[in-house]
Amino acid sequence: MKQSPEQREIEENLGPGAFSADGFLGSDPRSLADIIRDDQALVKSLGLTHQAIARQLGALIRLGLPGLGTPVPYGDHLEVIVMDYRGIIPCPFRDNVREEKRLTVCRDRLTGDAIRWTDLNVHMIAAHGFYEGRGSPFRVDPAEVQAMLGIQPDPEPEKTES
Ligand SMILES: [Zn+2]
Repeated sequence: MKQSPEQREIEENLGPGAFSADGFLGSDPRSLADIIRDDQALVKSLGLTHQAIARQLGALIRLGLPGLGTPVPYGDHLEVIVMDYRGIIPCPFRDNVREEKRLTVCRDRLTGDAIRWTDLNVHMIAAHGFYEGRGSPFRVDPAEVQAMLGIQPDPEPEKTES
C-alpha cells in the first residue's frame, strides 16, 4: 500500500532516534496502521475503549504525583509510583502536543507484577489509539493493563428521556 508523505513522516518520527532514542515501534514488523488496527480490536474485545483506558492511566498519574518517587497505595494491594524526568517530549504524530517526561509504574505488592506508562502514552492512546509496537520499551499492552486495573467500561451514552 502506498503511503502518503505525511504518514511516512509520522512513521519516521516513530522510529529510533527521531523523538526518542529507542523509538516507539520496537521490533514490530507490522505497519503503523496494522498496529493501531490490531490494538483497537484487542481493546474492543476487552469491552473497553481507548478513552476509558487513557482516563484510568491518567487518573493514576494524578494519584501518584504527590508521592513523586515514593509509592502511593491504590486499592487493596496495588501501589503507584510516578517518576518525573523534568523534560518535555513532543508527540510524534505532528499535532503540536507536548507532554512531560514522566514515567508511572503500577505494581501489585502481592504478585510483584508491574505495568508502566508515560504521560505521552496516555496522550497517544487517547488521541491516536497507539499503544506502541511490540518490543518497544514503553509499549502499553491493553490486556495487561486490564488484568491489573480491571477498568470499568464507559457507561452507555444516556438516552434523553423527553
Ligand atoms: Zn498526538
